[in-house]
Amino acid sequence: MTDKNDLSQSVTSLKGVGPKVAERLMKLGINEIQDLLFHLPLRYQDRTRLYPLASLRNQQEVLVEGTVRLSQIKFGRRRSLVCHIEDGAASLTLRFFHFSNTQLKQLTQGVRVRCFGEVRTGPASLEMVHPEYQIIQDDKLLPVEAELTPVYPTTEGLHQLSFRKMMVQALACLEKSDSLPELLVDAVRLHPVAEYSLAEALLYVHRPPPDVDIDALLERKHPTQRRLAYEELLAQQISMRRVRATMQSHAAPVLKSSNDHRQQLLEKLPFPLTNAQKRVVKEILADIALPIPMQRLVQGDVGSGKTVVAALAVVEAVSAGYQAVMMAPTELLAEQHFQTFKTWLEPLGLSVGWCVGKQTASQRREVLAALSSGEIQVAVGTHALFQDEVTFNNLGLVVIDEQHRFGVHQRLALRDKGRGSNSYPHQLVMTATPIPRTLSMTAYADLSISIIDELPPGRSPVKTVVVPDSRRSEIVDRVHIACQENRQVYWVCTLIEESEHLQCQAAEDAARELQEALPDLSIALVHGRMKSAEKELLMKAFKSGDVDLLVATTVIEVGVDVPNASLMVIENSERLGLAQLHQLRGRVGRGSVQSHCVLMYQSPLSKNGKARLSCLRDTNDGFKIAQRDLELRGPGELLGTRQTGLPQFRVANLLEDTDLLACLLYTSPSPRD
Ligand code: ADP
Ligand code: MG
Repeated sequence: MTDKNDLSQSVTSLKGVGPKVAERLMKLGINEIQDLLFHLPLRYQDRTRLYPLASLRNQQEVLVEGTVRLSQIKFGRRRSLVCHIEDGAASLTLRFFHFSNTQLKQLTQGVRVRCFGEVRTGPASLEMVHPEYQIIQDDKLLPVEAELTPVYPTTEGLHQLSFRKMMVQALACLEKSDSLPELLVDAVRLHPVAEYSLAEALLYVHRPPPDVDIDALLERKHPTQRRLAYEELLAQQISMRRVRATMQSHAAPVLKSSNDHRQQLLEKLPFPLTNAQKRVVKEILADIALPIPMQRLVQGDVGSGKTVVAALAVVEAVSAGYQAVMMAPTELLAEQHFQTFKTWLEPLGLSVGWCVGKQTASQRREVLAALSSGEIQVAVGTHALFQDEVTFNNLGLVVIDEQHRFGVHQRLALRDKGRGSNSYPHQLVMTATPIPRTLSMTAYADLSISIIDELPPGRSPVKTVVVPDSRRSEIVDRVHIACQENRQVYWVCTLIEESEHLQCQAAEDAARELQEALPDLSIALVHGRMKSAEKELLMKAFKSGDVDLLVATTVIEVGVDVPNASLMVIENSERLGLAQLHQLRGRVGRGSVQSHCVLMYQSPLSKNGKARLSCLRDTNDGFKIAQRDLELRGPGELLGTRQTGLPQFRVANLLEDTDLLACLLYTSPSPRD
């Protein structure tokens, strides 16, 4: 027999929830009754008291009562029904643009009405447009609501009223049920957030009493909301740490070699490592020399030199007799890493192979055979490396570059690849999206973190200017001058309304116009819809200096390394996020000459848009930019749902609840070494 108050029951057990409604609820992530309970109001309406008409202010959402004094149809620009109501001291206008004959007959002189709606300043006096209203019969006293009325985030075809009806039932279930375990009160009894139990907090936020501190509630600062947020953050933290603990209970190969391959590579590099690189390499080597799987994240700004750090770890793994893979998010980047690794590793006698989606069936068969026999010691590729038919001989190390491009599920799935009977490969993930510390500790709670907080010497920071599109011809001149000085230039066309097709078209148009304006330059165009072979050919030509100006879509965002490129122009830069712009800009400033970045925008620029672009102009520090991006956009967007290991929180807000996060991270034992 099922318990009538079991909160894990499907929402379909509620009255009024049929298959259609259930489907819409599913869109909001609501399947069970308890999901409904954690679907919190966006805001509240106060229907607990009547406001005298004389007290009304513009934009207030209030409950009022009055007697209709005059009711007439006005024929202005739009026909409307206009009723004037009075409560003895003042009056208010009700305006309906859509109205029925019944309404016309109802709202006649002398009738008493109660209305709920937003007060607006109208042409002549304060008005309510399309208020909810109710006729009061025979001078009866209508009761007011005892609690504030919640307004829920919803989806098409699901009305507030249906939500409220479902919620009443769900809350009744909660009151009678004991199936919602109370965890916090016992676990952190001393913490102020544990003042309310889970059930109390839920009941409160769905049905706040009229004397609630409404401002606190609206700002999500009420103790009940903080308590719910805290539990959610804590739960996420615990589950990530559990993942980590489980991982650490497994074995991993000890990657420690006795030969001097690493030393040889270091000697052959045209540069010494920075201190930050040395430190991070040391941290990685210490990890992989242990018989438990490393789970380490390397955060380092664009251009900080993460590739060589990865290469050193790879060399160690292979020298110790294991295979290593390096996975990149795009074929372009995979190709580049493949070339780099060949240059660095083949002279040491190590074999480097590669595996991407575009390979022909016979090429692929060959690669697969070489991977499973162990003939390929280092494999570079895209996610094609992790398809089912790929098997390794003895995979010891997995490196994932630009990990923010992959989801957490991919990250977790990857470590099952190359898993032995009781052992897992070590895992190194690298990202150039620096995020503030509290955030990264949340997002990557299952990882140890290393930070490359230093750029190689001799780089002068990219100088950035923000200019309106109307100064395009000046910019074109600037491109010309740079190329005449034997520098190379990127011209980036940004995404138009999420349409790759339109973006490519825009890039094509830009390339054509630039070629007309600058006939003496060699111009190439790369975009996402081109065949990879063609793209690569052009990228190679750009790298070798045969192409002066590369017009591109945002496909070049990650990783591409052409040190001679010293100018980047980004069209419609206001459309991109700060982190993405910073990544793009990281394509220049890789050589020793002063580099420039021109952020073009379409006027007029919003205030927020202005603030964002100026932030980029004012600093080159990826961490500062990330912090600012966070403030201006909120963590969801900064990280992007697709792009992180971050779960979507229902209650907690990573930006606003940083204090809760901090206290959580300090009070619970750190898994870090
Ligand atoms: P990212 O961290 O963005 O992946 P890369 O690994 O692509 O950076 O390195 C950027 C450029 O800096 C490359 O040309 C690389 O060879 C060079 N580089 C890396 N480390 C150093 C160093 N210590 N000194 C000078 N140049 C370096
Ligand atoms: Mg890189």
